[in-house]
Amino acid sequence: MATSLWRNWSGTEAVEPVRTVKPGKVNEIAAAVREAAADGLRVKAVGAGHSFSGIAAPEGVLVDMGDMDGVVRVDTETNVVTVEAGMPMWRLNKVLDAHGLALENMGDIDRQTVSGAISTGTHGTGDRYRGLAWQVSALQMVLADGAVVRCSPERRPELFAAARIGLGALGIITEVSIQCVPAFQLQAVETPMRLDAVLGGLDELVAENDHFEFYWFPHTERTLTKQNNRYSMEERKRRPTRLEYWWNEGFTENALFEASNRVGARFPQAVPSLNRLAGRVWSSRNYTDVSHRVFTSPRKVVFREMEYAVPREALAEVLRDLKARVDAGGFNVSFPVEVRFAAADDVWLSTAHGRKTAYVAVHQYHRHDYEEYFKAAAEICNAVDGRPHWGKLHWLDAKGLSERYERFDDFLAVRDEVDPERRFANSYLDRVLGA
Ligand SMILES: Cc1cc2nc3c(=O)[nH]c(=O)nc-3n(C[C@H](O)[C@H](O)[C@H](O)COP(=O)(O)OP(=O)(O)OC[C@H]3O[C@@H](n4cnc5c(N)ncnc54)[C@H](O)[C@@H]3O)c2cc1C
Repeated sequence: MATSLWRNWSGTEAVEPVRTVKPGKVNEIAAAVREAAADGLRVKAVGAGHSFSGIAAPEGVLVDMGDMDGVVRVDTETNVVTVEAGMPMWRLNKVLDAHGLALENMGDIDRQTVSGAISTGTHGTGDRYRGLAWQVSALQMVLADGAVVRCSPERRPELFAAARIGLGALGIITEVSIQCVPAFQLQAVETPMRLDAVLGGLDELVAENDHFEFYWFPHTERTLTKQNNRYSMEERKRRPTRLEYWWNEGFTENALFEASNRVGARFPQAVPSLNRLAGRVWSSRNYTDVSHRVFTSPRKVVFREMEYAVPREALAEVLRDLKARVDAGGFNVSFPVEVRFAAADDVWLSTAHGRKTAYVAVHQYHRHDYEEYFKAAAEICNAVDGRPHWGKLHWLDAKGLSERYERFDDFLAVRDEVDPERRFANSYLDRVLGA
């Protein structure tokens, strides 16, 4: 297939692959991998390009997963749903809706592919809930020698433990089985609060809500808290009208926010006032909807992001330090800082591996400089043993990362076994895993 420049969503990466293939079947993927090996080329499976880091940059053969998007099996006895790996999350949600099922938890958008989302450790929020990869019960993959293999807790358990968050480094995932739950509704209560009140009452807010998160508006004391709680589909709840949906998700959080960011990019000294205004405009709401319509929103304002997973008990200190750095001056931050929560899990390269976690995500509008601000935030998070999101910007390398993951060497051992020639590597993986 003809090749052209590949760019990621946020515009931080642009690469011209040597060639692009768009397979529709597993054996075509296996053939593409064998041909790449014969030509001495590296191979990269690419999802929706929604990673901010160079993790998806295709330097040799780009394998576009867009045609691998079908339903393989829906088991209504076990609620395990198997789909082809390139299925976008929004389509997966439609499939699940049709069967009265849902994902247990989700991130805040639905544009990623299933395989892309699990491969970088995509997560949502909720003190008792875990990321998407933890909901995966089995995988089918094409390995570097072109072999098609399956893995699960029973079959090739080491490969499964590594490949659930495999960074695209172990092979090309072709099918994903996900343990789903019966469909449910979420009641969303969004309330402005002062930052010191949120930090003071954090334990209760996190424990008393199924899915708690908050946005802090830098240069201000304001936050917007989101308290989402689960209800069965039978309970009659008021759904937002189309107009309300458009006003909040279309106009306030996108069109108006884009305009405000453009003004901030032109007049950086106006950013603190714009943030105070945003803190007022993003005001109280109370509504209920099917879970994925509450978990996710459209994101039309283009931004750059770095996100660190920090030990839950270090969160208040991290935010106070970050606020002190912002208040000391030097950066104009027009995007809110997003704070989320997760239970500990056992996926080897999960940012929540083995500890209760809080996520601190810093963003900048794509026309603003981000580096100095992100590096200041990284320094604060690194000091508390923070782990950066694999799909978002950060500056750590294999040495720094190996100190943060108990099972890092086990992951490398599986990689040595299944991809000794580093067929699935790229520059980002050379940096974070070592060549
Ligand atoms: C607006 C926005 C909002 C976001 N919100 C969240 C959020 O709420 N929570 C969160 O945790 N993250 C979030 N992210 C990050 C995003 O979920 C991840 O970066 C995710 O990996 C993107 O999925 P993708 O399909 O675009 O994958 P890509 O970025 O295309 O690829 C990511 C990695 O997956 C690998 N991969 C893709 N397909 C396969 C396959 N079939 N086999 C093997 N490897 C494969 C690629 O090789 C690459 O290594 C957000 C990103 C954006 C832009």
